[in-house]
Amino acid sequence: MDIEEFRKAGYDAIDRICEYYYSLREYPVVPQVQPGFLKKALPNTAPGAGEPWSNIVDDYTKLILPGLLHFQHPLNFSYFPIQSTFAGTLGDLLAGSAPTPSLSWFVGPASTELENVVMDWAAKMLGLDRVFHVESNIGGGVIQTSASESMLVSVVAARTRYLLAHPMTPIESLLIYVTSQTHSCGRKAGLVLGLNVRVLDVDEPTRVGGGLDAETLRVALDEDHAAGLAPFVLITTVGTTTSGAVDNVADVGALLKTSYPDVWMHVDAAWAGVVLACPEYRERAQLAGINAYADSFCTNFHKWGLVNFECSALWVRDRQRLIEALEYTPPYLRTKQGDAGDTVEYRNWHLGLCRRFRSLKMWFVLRSYGLNGFQGYIRNCIAMNHMFAKQVCATPSFELVSPPSFALTVFRIVPRAGAPNGTANKLNRVFYDALLARSSEVLLTQTELGGVFCVRFCVGSSRTTPADVEDAWNIVCEVGETVRARFGK
Ligand code: PLP
Repeated sequence: MDIEEFRKAGYDAIDRICEYYYSLREYPVVPQVQPGFLKKALPNTAPGAGEPWSNIVDDYTKLILPGLLHFQHPLNFSYFPIQSTFAGTLGDLLAGSAPTPSLSWFVGPASTELENVVMDWAAKMLGLDRVFHVESNIGGGVIQTSASESMLVSVVAARTRYLLAHPMTPIESLLIYVTSQTHSCGRKAGLVLGLNVRVLDVDEPTRVGGGLDAETLRVALDEDHAAGLAPFVLITTVGTTTSGAVDNVADVGALLKTSYPDVWMHVDAAWAGVVLACPEYRERAQLAGINAYADSFCTNFHKWGLVNFECSALWVRDRQRLIEALEYTPPYLRTKQGDAGDTVEYRNWHLGLCRRFRSLKMWFVLRSYGLNGFQGYIRNCIAMNHMFAKQVCATPSFELVSPPSFALTVFRIVPRAGAPNGTANKLNRVFYDALLARSSEVLLTQTELGGVFCVRFCVGSSRTTPADVEDAWNIVCEVGETVRARFGK
């Protein structure tokens, strides 16, 4: 493809993207395909001779697009959102067109400095303390691929800090603390690093949907220290995956600071962290605790923050802790600027060496939405979720399983009075299967909270309107009534 052919193909690709968004409502939310559908449709080797571009892109439209779960669909209320905004899409396009691996400031001066700038813009937008800003020269922000990677990198930094302070600690006594509601990436960090994980329970029936409190943590720390173990990192969550619960970051942080200062506190706010852009949610989302005590804080702008996948923002209170854990600079990577210490060398802040130019899309999004547009989007999602939660509360055959949290509602159908124990979970499994049978129209996802099977409704697509929430609710009610009738009432 030469430059002029690219120009034509590029215009055509943008036209196709526009058509996709014009017709998005007509797509089934969940693709109506079976495993193996694509393999059957494609040859099993790459072509010998290059093919005309128009054939290739036609196949994308014909075979690939209909095989995707459409996260941007206005009636997708599943999991947590994954974003695609036009500003972010153009950022990805331009970043991909002039790739720079940014393994050092020397290799990517503009991409490195833009990342410094946008991470500070975002930190200020979220109200993070100056110590987390790159311009503080103490802590700083870095874009990672995922919240899982942000967490892994934080655990690695925590381990190094701990072992530098306690060099004789046997590796097998090191402990990562997570809660029963921590995302699975907490346990995965333990698997990857070969470290033990202790799960703190926040799941008692009286506390369904609740977060970690300081007393639970204190008991665990006292027990483990008495047993000669070495807890060195605590993963807290602001906005758990199952129910949007929030750990008491301020109280557990204060306990760590006063009694166990060697324990690093990571705050995983992969989904909910962006609500900090709205001052009215800062108290609920524990901003004061984060600012006072978090060693690291992560939120995914690619989830609920309007930036295209991938864009996981990680801030650390002390950048040296990351660097001492991750820096290894052989002669071929040395540069004058790096040696002088005047630049941020992001390869020492993450796992890979080369890195994509992700700050460009974040810059485009933050500039094109502005703080007002960003806040408006977040507030809209929360308002639409409250519309849905209100309907749940007003309908006797449904109930909330935990309090609605930001843009997430967790609910279930109530079994008829006098139904035998255990009916509720069975009924709700059947209800969810019946809802899945309507997944070309609307998609919600399932979960379990404290042994209770329940259904999650999460608003996040920037194309969802109140009328879509109404449509979703009508389908939920229709399906619910049919299933209840089958169960006797
Ligand atoms: N943490 C929380 C609270 C999440 O909800 C998720 C995913 O939904 C993750 C971490 C993992 O995110 P990622 O896919 O970016 O690793």
